[in-house]
Amino acid sequence: MDAGNAHRQVLSRLRKLLAEGQTIRTAASDVNLSPTSAYRLAVRHSLPRRTRAEKAAAVETAQGLIRAARLSNGEIARRLNLHEGTISRLRQLIVDRDSQAEFRPRRVRKARRCPTCGHKVKVWPCVMCRALGRTA
Ligand SMILES: [Zn+2]
Repeated sequence: MDAGNAHRQVLSRLRKLLAEGQTIRTAASDVNLSPTSAYRLAVRHSLPRRTRAEKAAAVETAQGLIRAARLSNGEIARRLNLHEGTISRLRQLIVDRDSQAEFRPRRVRKARRCPTCGHKVKVWPCVMCRALGRTA
């Protein structure tokens, strides 16, 4: 088989996989290419790719599934055709955002003595207690 023929075969297989809605990354590993090479081929030959909006919709659905907390990262990745690393990054973002939401310190005009740690603090819930790992 000559090189041109092999190239055409890889290209047509890649086109088919992408048309089925596979990600560049998974399609690339199916045809034994690096994701970068597959991406370049896809751009050069304008192969069908997921639009930005389609990917954004998949990410939004993933966030919902992560919040529902019934599926593993791998399961969500397979269902939505996203990379497992993407899901794990989204999960971390959600965890970070939620932990910030529950601690919302407010600055008060006059310092008050904290009943737990005894420090005079202007930011409540008591920032000293939080720094010391206690709860006020
Ligand atoms: Zn305190």
